[in-house]
Amino acid sequence: MKDEKSLLIQNGRVVDPAQGLDEVASVLILNGKVSKIVKGADAAIETPTGIRVFDASDKVVCPGFVDMHVHLREPGFEHKEDIESGTKAAARGGFTSVASMPNTMPVTDNSGTVDLIEHRSRQVGLVNVFPIGAASLGMKGEDLANIGELVEAGAVAISDDGFPVQNNYVMRRILEYASMFGISFISHPEDTNLSAGGSMHEGYYSNLLGLKGIPAASEEIAISTDIILGEMTGTPIHIAHVSTSGGVRMIRSAKERGIKITAEATPHHFSLTDASLVSYDTNFKMKPPLRSEADLEAVKQGLKDGTLDCIATDHAPHSENEKEVEFDKAPFGVIGLETAIPVTLDKLYHTGILSLTQIVEKLSLNPATILRLESKGSLKEGCDGDVTILDPEKEVEINPREFASKSRNTPFAGWKLKGAPIATIVAGAIASSASP
Ligand SMILES: [Zn+2]
Repeated sequence: MKDEKSLLIQNGRVVDPAQGLDEVASVLILNGKVSKIVKGADAAIETPTGIRVFDASDKVVCPGFVDMHVHLREPGFEHKEDIESGTKAAARGGFTSVASMPNTMPVTDNSGTVDLIEHRSRQVGLVNVFPIGAASLGMKGEDLANIGELVEAGAVAISDDGFPVQNNYVMRRILEYASMFGISFISHPEDTNLSAGGSMHEGYYSNLLGLKGIPAASEEIAISTDIILGEMTGTPIHIAHVSTSGGVRMIRSAKERGIKITAEATPHHFSLTDASLVSYDTNFKMKPPLRSEADLEAVKQGLKDGTLDCIATDHAPHSENEKEVEFDKAPFGVIGLETAIPVTLDKLYHTGILSLTQIVEKLSLNPATILRLESKGSLKEGCDGDVTILDPEKEVEINPREFASKSRNTPFAGWKLKGAPIATIVAGAIASSASP
C-alpha cells in the first residue's frame, strides 16, 4: 500500500514568504509534515522507495491557503452547504484550511457545537476546519459567550460576524474576556441602525435603482469604534470584509499608531462595484455591499500597502430558492471558495498590484498567524504538509454548475480569468487536483 501522507513535489517555483523563499525547489513531505526543501531544478533528494511524485514544473508551490472567513452552514442550514460540500469546494478552490463562522444553528457559542464541527470535519472534511466561536450567547449581543470554554474546545478566534454587537459596554467586556486567551476578535463592522432596511451601497446607483442604501458610514463608524475599544483593551481585533475607503484609511492610521489591528478584503470587494446592481441580480447582494469605484480603488491600495493583511472569501452559501426573490427581499451573501484564487490572480497579480509573495502572505501566512495556526502558513521543515499549487497562466471560465458547493450564488458566473489552483494537498494527501 502506498503512503498517502508522503509526497515529493518536484521542480516547482516555491514561494514561501515566511522563509524569504522564491525559487525553483523540491518539497519533500513525509508522514504529513514538511521534511525538507531542496533548492534548484532536478535537485537530488533521498526519498523512501515508492514515494508518490508530483511534477510541479512551471507551476507555483505555496504553503496551503487559509480562508479565515467561511460560512459552512453546518449545523443547522445544510440545505445551503454542509461540512462535506463546503470543504470539497475549499479543496477545489485551492484552500487547505478554512475557519468557519459561528452563525450556525445552534449558534457556535458552546463547546458542544465546536466539538460537533471538529468531529464532522474529521469524518467528512477534505481540508482542515477551524471553528470560530461566537462572542455573545446566541449572537444576540447581550450576554457574553463562555469564551474560555470555546477556546478550550478549539475555537481559534471569536466573532460576531453577521450579527454585530452594537452595545459598546458589552463589546468592551467581550474584548477584555478575549484578551485573557490571546485570541483575536473578528469584527463584522456595521452600525445596524444606519444600515437598517438597506440592500445595497448608498450612492448614485441606489438612487438610480430606487433601492434603499447602506451608507459607507455604517461600516466606518463601526471600524472607528473597534479601533477605540481595541486600543482601550489591548485585544487584537481583526476587521472582516473592509469595503470602504474611510475604513481602509482608519485602519492604516491605527496601524501606524501601533494598535493591534488586522484586516481582510474579499475578492468581490476588490473586483466589483455597485454599478453591477443595475442587473438587479441578487447574486450581487451581500454585506457589506459592493461599493463605489473610489472604494474599490482604496481596497486595492490597502492590499498593496499592507493595510489589509488578508484576502478572505466570506463564502456565504444560499440556495437558489432563497436568492430568486425580489432584490430587497433576498438574503445577503455570495459564495467565494471556488473563485477566489482566479479572481485574485487575474485582478491583483496580472495587473501588477500584488506580487506572488504578497498573495501568499495574504492567503496563507497572515491568516495562519492571526488565527495562531503555528504549523501552517509556511513550508518550513516540520510544518504541516499543506500545499497549494498554482498555475498563474491557466485560463478558466467560471461555471457555477461545476461547483462542488451546494449553492450557486456567485457574482462571477461566466467570467474568464487567468490563473487558477491546480492541486490542493492536505498533510501530504492530494485533496483535489485539476485534470490537465
Ligand atoms: Zn460579515
